[in-house]
Amino acid sequence: MPEFHIGVLATFAAQIIGAAVTAVLLYGFNRQYRKSYLQHWTRGWAALTLYHLSGAASMVLALRLRLPATAPSRIIATLADGISGYLMVGWFLFGIWEFVRRRPIRMFAAQRMLAALVVIGVIASLLFINRAPISEERYLTRVGVRALFAAIGFGTVALTLWRARRNRPGLGFSILAVAFFCYALEQLHYLTIGLIWAVAGTYLDFALWIGVADFLIQAVIGIGMIACLLEDEREAAELAAVQIEHLAYHDALTGLPNRPLFMDRLIVALAQADRSSQRLAVFFLDLDRFKDINDSLGHTVGDALLKAVAERIRRCVREGDTVARLGGDEFTLLIPRTDNVEDVAKVAQKILETLKIPFFIHERELFVTTSIGISIYPNDGLDPETLLRNADSAMYRAKDQGRDNYQLYAPAMNARALERLALENMLRKAVAQKELIVHYQPLVDLHSRHIIGVEALVRWDHPQLGLLSPAHFISVAEISGLIIPIGNWVLRTACRQLRIWQKRIDYDLTLSVNLSARQFQQPDLVEQIRSAVNDSGIHPSSLELEITESNAMQNAENTSYTLRELKALGVRIAMDDFGTGYSSLNYLKRFPIDTLKLDQTFVREVTTDPSDAAIVSAVISMAHSLNLAVVAEGVETEGQLAFLRRQRCDRIQGNLFSPAVSAEMVEPLLAEKTAKLA
Ligand code: C2E
Ligand code: MG
Ligand code: MG
Repeated sequence: MPEFHIGVLATFAAQIIGAAVTAVLLYGFNRQYRKSYLQHWTRGWAALTLYHLSGAASMVLALRLRLPATAPSRIIATLADGISGYLMVGWFLFGIWEFVRRRPIRMFAAQRMLAALVVIGVIASLLFINRAPISEERYLTRVGVRALFAAIGFGTVALTLWRARRNRPGLGFSILAVAFFCYALEQLHYLTIGLIWAVAGTYLDFALWIGVADFLIQAVIGIGMIACLLEDEREAAELAAVQIEHLAYHDALTGLPNRPLFMDRLIVALAQADRSSQRLAVFFLDLDRFKDINDSLGHTVGDALLKAVAERIRRCVREGDTVARLGGDEFTLLIPRTDNVEDVAKVAQKILETLKIPFFIHERELFVTTSIGISIYPNDGLDPETLLRNADSAMYRAKDQGRDNYQLYAPAMNARALERLALENMLRKAVAQKELIVHYQPLVDLHSRHIIGVEALVRWDHPQLGLLSPAHFISVAEISGLIIPIGNWVLRTACRQLRIWQKRIDYDLTLSVNLSARQFQQPDLVEQIRSAVNDSGIHPSSLELEITESNAMQNAENTSYTLRELKALGVRIAMDDFGTGYSSLNYLKRFPIDTLKLDQTFVREVTTDPSDAAIVSAVISMAHSLNLAVVAEGVETEGQLAFLRRQRCDRIQGNLFSPAVSAEMVEPLLAEKTAKLA
């Protein structure tokens, strides 16, 4: 029978006080922070206090007062010891689980588990109570099973915390994990003490040391829990700050930026547009008759509709654009960079079209339209307020015009943008309805006076307006991208036509085809040309592709590469409109060009303007020194022809011999072969 030891009682006292203080501390925190896991921990520490208290009581009752094990006070102490020992483990586990998972454990499950722990505690205490004669097995079963349970429980906790610590900042997790790990080890140690006591009877000395270790570990666990709590709070505060900031700059209903954020982005975009000398567009959108929907169907439907509208507008715009909700049914849109008004008009058109598709809200089909006002920087204002105000007033004009349309702030631009858009739509139809035709203009060799080739020039045979020259539609085709299908069609049609002529006439005839900048940038350009040549059956060397200077200079590196690829196909290259762009002679040398076409603006004045005459003569001799053939465009008079001949120009193209005419009309000229020139 071990002796009573006042030192052990003292360590018990220290543990009791430590646990009680921690419980009170956590209780205080919980009242302040109201966290479910804090509640579990507080209960755990209270249970631990009771556990130590009943342990101390048991010791005093048994060893000091020497009461029999069946004395009611000893039974009560044993019961309290058993139950609180199990509950303590349970509560700590719940608390940690909730803390790591960030969500409360289910009430019902928790209660059932606690009840089970109480039952186990009661059974273990009563069945294996220390009645005389004292039996090691009974003691071991009672204390050892619980120690094993606690070791497994705390070990699990330690492992869980250790794994989860990477996702949480701060030291709290690591401290707790290590402390619980030590605690688990210490629990295992209780088993050993039991054994030692049973074998050597020196229970109390060990109890003394174990008590001290126990106290230290508990202190660290307490500190760890408080550290965790504080770190958790700081994290929550940071999160709240982020949320508050989001709320401050976003509309709560749609999640879109609100007016302050929109204005902020507008200021930044204005600075950038100013630096890069680009335009910027501000849209002001107001839904038509939204109030009717809100009043008749209620705010829930109205809100849902606004959300859906916001989403649709957002989908109409690009990544860098900002859609904002100013309030009510008013939205704004910022397009921070734009090159032309037509693109802006297109976005407006797209939004109008998209919103016209019916909405299905709460099993109801709703129809909404919107009126849009647009202001453009720098034309319609230089600062955010003016731009927004002008977009707003343009929006009112859109309402006046019968709603469901857009208006630019500057009315002149309106007309132009609309015209462009209408033209684009007409051109699209024209392509589909095959209203485009190709005309051909002969090129005459000045040495032999033979027709040596034709240039293919597109025309639009408009049902009402008659034959339209490219000047009317090429730029719209460029902007809209329609030039790609148009250009391909011209190329294929002309190649087929050339093949027909080549079969009929007995001399070499070449074909010149213009390539637009857009076509020139197509990644499959070379492939398109190859297939047009192969499908028509012409020899590649009878095809000459014309590119303009400005077109070629857009990206000199790429141009060089593409031209080399084209040359590898066997086709020839001409530099069109030479003299109108900013050509560098250096590039003329670097690009693999065969022909240089002198622009008609120089040719026109050669007989009247000495400086034009000087330029033309210089260009011709320079071209010859680079081994390039020279074609003079737009030759209209005998005088021009005579001058060009004197300067040893190689070929001419112009109304003097023949303007561009239909395939049928050019055929007799080809049949004659020799041009009737002076
Ligand atoms: P370009 O390639 O420089 O074509 C020469 C233009 O000068 C043609 O105008 C032609 O009709 C015109 N022209 C020829 N001789 C005379 C003359 O003696 N006096 C005057 N005043 N003009 C003459 P067109 O057909 O109106 O074409 C204009 C431009 O449109 C072309 O200039 C070319 O850049 C472009 N273009 C024409 N067809 C196509 C095409 O199929 N694709 C592409 N990408 N552009 C084309
Ligand atoms: Mg040309
Ligand atoms: Mg030209």
